[in-house]
Amino acid sequence: MYRPKIDFHEQYQKFNAEITNIDCGLKCSVYNPSGKPYCCDICEAIPVTYDQEWNYLKNNTNLWHEWNGTDCSATPEEIKEIEDGIPNNQILVACKGPKYCQRGFRAISCRQFPFFPYISTDYRFIGMVYEWHFESKCWVINNLNLVSDQYRSEFVLFYDELFSIWPEEMNSYANLSGLLRDAFSRLKRRMPVLHRNGGYYLMSPQSEKLYRVNPLNFRKHGVYNI
Ligand code: SF4
Ligand code: SF4
Repeated sequence: MYRPKIDFHEQYQKFNAEITNIDCGLKCSVYNPSGKPYCCDICEAIPVTYDQEWNYLKNNTNLWHEWNGTDCSATPEEIKEIEDGIPNNQILVACKGPKYCQRGFRAISCRQFPFFPYISTDYRFIGMVYEWHFESKCWVINNLNLVSDQYRSEFVLFYDELFSIWPEEMNSYANLSGLLRDAFSRLKRRMPVLHRNGGYYLMSPQSEKLYRVNPLNFRKHGVYNI
């Protein structure tokens, strides 16, 4: 399918802010038995790139290779399930590991982690929500008050541009937002939202009603709940 070209070199320059002014990898890696930051541990999270992004990366750095399951000894059944779970314009990839990270060549999936854009049932990009499976692992998720305004602005700008060029990308995030609502409905909890307006909210997963909150009061999880 034809898709307009996106200049990923330019997008990487514009979406480059640190999430917080603390090196969060040092905070979470102490709790990971592998000693790696959770989002840089291929056994915990498999990065993806858009196909156009992959063309840019493979022509400009040797940091990445296509993921094939051997990086974390997945079974053939697991590999098939993971591969079937991604859209056909995306490619599963693996990097050389956090010791060899090249900051300028981090994929968008590295830059956005642990967040993704929340798309409401009436199809609006509201702000940032997080990968709920990492609640007990990711230090950032447990310190949402420390996410920088600059990072939030760059995140919003990147997805505004992405959705304007590839509007169909909103569908996959609308689906993911639906899974988030289901997960929080089951947990009987409201979902933290870092709104594009700069505010912090809890959202009802049923009504999508937003309640403004003090970010210091967001719930903490796992080892961070001390
Ligand atoms: S984003 Fe979360 S999982 Fe990744 S390094 Fe930071 S604290 Fe760790
Ligand atoms: S490229 Fe860097 S940030 Fe991305 S997964 Fe690898 S080590 Fe982590």
